[in-house]
Amino acid sequence: MHLKFCFEKMKLALKNKTFFLFSFLLLFTVTSHVHADAETVIAPLQLHSGAEHNAAIRFHRLERLKDRVNSEPSELAKRCRYVSDIAAPAPLHQVVLSFDDGPEPIQTELILQLLERYKISASFFMIGEKAKRHPNLVQEVLKSGRHLVGNHSWSHPNFHTIAVQEQAHQVNAARAVLVNASEPKLFRYPYGNSSCESNALLKTEGYKIVGWHVDSCDWAFDRHGSVNDKEALECGVLQPFKNDYVGHVLATIEAHRGGIVLMHETHPNTIAQLETIIKALIDRGFAFGALSDTAFQQLMH
Ligand SMILES: [Zn+2]
Repeated sequence: MHLKFCFEKMKLALKNKTFFLFSFLLLFTVTSHVHADAETVIAPLQLHSGAEHNAAIRFHRLERLKDRVNSEPSELAKRCRYVSDIAAPAPLHQVVLSFDDGPEPIQTELILQLLERYKISASFFMIGEKAKRHPNLVQEVLKSGRHLVGNHSWSHPNFHTIAVQEQAHQVNAARAVLVNASEPKLFRYPYGNSSCESNALLKTEGYKIVGWHVDSCDWAFDRHGSVNDKEALECGVLQPFKNDYVGHVLATIEAHRGGIVLMHETHPNTIAQLETIIKALIDRGFAFGALSDTAFQQLMH
């Protein structure tokens, strides 16, 4: 009963956009502390692993929220900072699963097996440097004919802080490795951070820029599927789901009534709970689409 009440409350809050405002206000109470922690591990042009990578995601998420609070929307739009944000609703009860930051040995294969079992299409946004190291995994994903492979930059930097020339290099170097990647050409910005110059480059080169409706926050939950109070605040995890990664993902998808779901190939929760999430979504009447579907293409830039 309590869960149902909270869920209804969240749906209403999302609808009114007060949820985000509330999150921003709360986040101000923790950002300065996290900023200091995260800065010590950020090295923009290097790939991180495990906890460091999660810290980088957390850091950029907080920076984005602070930016949104401190800047006029028109100013952010003029600087093309967040074209990855999708304002339009998802096609009703349609879900697209997307997996970032791979390919990842073992994990990519396990995800593929599971998707095959349920005949589900998904999108994999790969880091060029990793794709170069694991070309067989790129081919495994493409071989199925079911999935799309997109460009997620060469080494996962923050496009807000690197030179324009480096931004172009990040796109093109990854493309050179992912030369056989799917059509339509898809690009997802690391941390969702875009720039006017790269948007223009991507458009010229025929890319669609892909954001997401639902951040699974797999990076915030620990391997037992729990988040502490601070993490819950940062990722908008409601109290009833603090020890329930699957519940958080399902409730957020329900609140959006579908949409593009962001997960990470690198995170153990993704592997451990993916089948449970898939089964629950099917039980709740959701269908799995693909980013190549017209309805989803319309959500991209
Ligand atoms: Zn990423």
